[in-house]
Amino acid sequence: MSAAGFAGGVAALARQLRGREVSSVELARQRLAAIAGEGGALGAFLHVDAERTLAEARTADERIARGEAGPITGVPVAHKDIFVTDFARSGLPTTAGSKMLAGYASPFDATVVARLGPGVPGEGPGAGMVTLGKLNCDEFAMGSSNENSAYAPVLNPWDRTRVPGGSSGGSAAAVAAGLVPAATGTDTGGSIRQPASFCGVSGIKPTYGLCSRWGMVAFASSLDQAGPLARSAEDCALLLSAMSGFDARDATSAERPPADLHAAMLAPRAGATAAQPLAGLRIGLPKEFFPAALAADVGSAVRSALAELQKLGARLVDVSLPRTELSIPVYYIIAPAEASSNLSRFDGVRYGHRTNAPADLLELYKKSRSEGFGAEVKRRIMIGTYVLSHGYYDAYYVQAQKLRRMIADDFQAVFKQCELVAGPVAPTVAWKLGAQADDPVKAYLADIFTLPASLAGLPGMSVPAGTGEGGMPVGLQLIGNYFAEGTLLHAAHALQQATDWHLREPKT
Ligand code: GLN
Repeated sequence: MSAAGFAGGVAALARQLRGREVSSVELARQRLAAIAGEGGALGAFLHVDAERTLAEARTADERIARGEAGPITGVPVAHKDIFVTDFARSGLPTTAGSKMLAGYASPFDATVVARLGPGVPGEGPGAGMVTLGKLNCDEFAMGSSNENSAYAPVLNPWDRTRVPGGSSGGSAAAVAAGLVPAATGTDTGGSIRQPASFCGVSGIKPTYGLCSRWGMVAFASSLDQAGPLARSAEDCALLLSAMSGFDARDATSAERPPADLHAAMLAPRAGATAAQPLAGLRIGLPKEFFPAALAADVGSAVRSALAELQKLGARLVDVSLPRTELSIPVYYIIAPAEASSNLSRFDGVRYGHRTNAPADLLELYKKSRSEGFGAEVKRRIMIGTYVLSHGYYDAYYVQAQKLRRMIADDFQAVFKQCELVAGPVAPTVAWKLGAQADDPVKAYLADIFTLPASLAGLPGMSVPAGTGEGGMPVGLQLIGNYFAEGTLLHAAHALQQATDWHLREPKT
């Protein structure tokens, strides 16, 4: 039983639903009660509409009764509040964690939301998961601690004096606390992997283009990707299969047939045995991912997970990603550049907050934006505008783009020596609330291990790997080549079959 008193992840609940041991309505009622009660103190949920959730659950139960259920129909889910949800259908506003979008009622669902839930119009039925609500996040997904949310910080269920990570902090905290078996998140530079690591859950950021960005409030469009956070790799595989697939409404959507990642996760490798399911798997350890400055507790947890992978047959090989350090300046030029452009749509005219009684149009723009955006968002808009301005464009933006390509090329050289890359997700365990409030650059530097895969567009995963200082969870990061989600999930699943780190739960 989890802290909130509910056993089971997505796969287990789906089995119970199909076996009629529990109904979707019962599951939804239990979780809604937990969110309204003690679980609410974590600040993970921003919006809930209990009536509509129960109506969705009744629809799921009818679908199950008719024998028309998919593999995860009726299982509860919650969405990061960066995915738009059709307000008329769901009763759920979309704020992206910003005052700018307070109360915003979207007229449509994000593709990911529709595919996991009722289905995309014209595409046939969706997976039929039941939406419990929308989850807190850093404003416009900018941050690593959830403290940039305009609404409330989220508390880490393992230690309520610490951050849950970010920007998908509400998603990770809600899953860790057992308020929901799985949640969606988005990852631009680590926002699925890092909160998953800080809260001791599994999370995967797929290859850029695998999940549609349609209906995801844009931060940095060339980096933004959706993905699931859940207890186990298996649960992630079930959600990701339903979320992914080509979408003509996203110009960067990968034109590939939908993949059954659960089947790919289970498929045995050539040469595998029962004792050594990962026989022949070469895992590269970039020396830059194990610097002297890596916290000792994180290093030792990661090494113990690597030792387990070795026992399962994997071979560890030394590799190098020489431009790892450069991913910080490269990302913190490209992401703000794209953000400054994307966020220009919030002008007080078309969407969101509009100031009261402006004297003229210029004042309308200025006041609406300065009242609606928080400090970190303003900082990024200023950096982005600066690096894109005439005279600085070549010096910063163009150089960053060149380096981005070299970072991607470095990975391709490494993938000639190994199939997966492994390392830590973050240099430390979750820090104390407020610890980095005075220095945003400290938080930027802590993104060092997640940014390289984001810049290269590669899939990356965080898998629980034990605990460090203060009993806080530590994540192992696994990175694969393009569209190698099946290999990533297979390795993570094998590890989770042999260990119990992913089953540990916070006591609070
Ligand atoms: N921490 C990074 C940032 O602040 C990544 C955020 C994200 O992936 N959305 O930009």
